[in-house]
Amino acid sequence: MRNVALLGASGSIGKQTLDVLRRLRDFRLVGISVHNNTEALAEIYSEFKPRYVVITGKARPPEGVRALYGREGLVEMASADDVDVVVVATNGIIGVFPTIEALKRGKRVALANKETLVAFGPFVKEVSPLGELVPIDSEHSSAFQLLNGVKREEVKRLILTASGGPFRTWPKERIARARPEDALKHPTWSMGAKITVDSATLMNKGLEVIEAHFLFDLPPDKIDVRVHPQSAIHAILLLRDNSLKMHVSRPDMRIPIQYALTYPDRVEMDIPPYLPPDFEEVVFTLEMPDTERFPALSLAYRALRLGGTYPAVLNAANEVAVYAFLERKVPFYGITDVVERIMEENPYRNEDTFEGYLQADRWARRRAEEVIERYPLR
Ligand code: NDP
Ligand code: MG
Repeated sequence: MRNVALLGASGSIGKQTLDVLRRLRDFRLVGISVHNNTEALAEIYSEFKPRYVVITGKARPPEGVRALYGREGLVEMASADDVDVVVVATNGIIGVFPTIEALKRGKRVALANKETLVAFGPFVKEVSPLGELVPIDSEHSSAFQLLNGVKREEVKRLILTASGGPFRTWPKERIARARPEDALKHPTWSMGAKITVDSATLMNKGLEVIEAHFLFDLPPDKIDVRVHPQSAIHAILLLRDNSLKMHVSRPDMRIPIQYALTYPDRVEMDIPPYLPPDFEEVVFTLEMPDTERFPALSLAYRALRLGGTYPAVLNAANEVAVYAFLERKVPFYGITDVVERIMEENPYRNEDTFEGYLQADRWARRRAEEVIERYPLR
């Protein structure tokens, strides 16, 4: 029996993890965290009766339940001796604290939260050999599986696929006028609001390139992106002998979630394969991403190449700008305008301590708010 703590249990990944846990034998949910959702907390609690309940926001604990609170609560749960696997499915950078503590104690971290790795990559990488870091993000789960048994020097390139989002075929002038409700219509994946907007800008793929760099120790020029509207191929490896290895499944996050829990074992799933008889024929298309219409991807590569705190600053500014777009304070291209401006200003470029990265993150959020107040930029 393996004991699981699920951080962000009320979210999109959180709910799908619960679904996987309901069917999976040999795993027991012993801890959960939620932010504001009192109702979801009550429901999950009454079904699973976890030992640990952590509240990071304004949610209220169920009657008679003693909860832990905030960042300290997440860390306490993630480092408890009776927790074996920590699933990190919160939003934002708070995930970095329990991730690092759990790895230090030799636990498995099944990581969905990409912001953690993007902003604090060097620090997570430093402690990841002490435990087991298994990605949940579908492209990285696929890459993780494709790289199994492959030597790093045999890898010519890792290609991550992007669905292209709802604006894949839209001309730039139309994208410029896109509203939040347009951006929230994802063609293939069903996800939380923030990541759905990131998929529309392609920032999601930019964050994933950075994530892949830290997870797999590959330089930026060995990581590439192709737009693949079917979202069936999640990652492709180009190998030394020019053969390609690709990983294909239905776009359903329960597949990589389950694998991150059961790895190195693989167990049955009730999701059909991406193959006939369901499909008359299977067509896979791969297109070059258009960085003219989707500048976020270039910004992310720039942040990765500049290194240091730049990915943290990119991530923080993007998060603030995405919520501003959802609140209709900036237009769609306002998101990347703000991110670019904040990166240019980054006064924390020479920081190399964890505390310095945290300061860079806080500065970028504050500065992004200011810049948004005065939008449009000059
Ligand atoms: P959701 O918005 O659906 O859920 C987020 C979860 O985190 C909720 O449980 C929420 O609690 C909690 N939460 C929100 N804000 C905070 C905060 N400031 N501190 C702590 N907890 C918080 O997001 P998703 O499930 O879509 O995504 C979660 C993470 O996984 C993100 O980092 C995302 O990039 C990554 N990811 C998601 C994928 C997907 O398919 N959804 C795919 C790959 C990666 P409450 O409900 O109580 O507010
Ligand atoms: Mg992904």
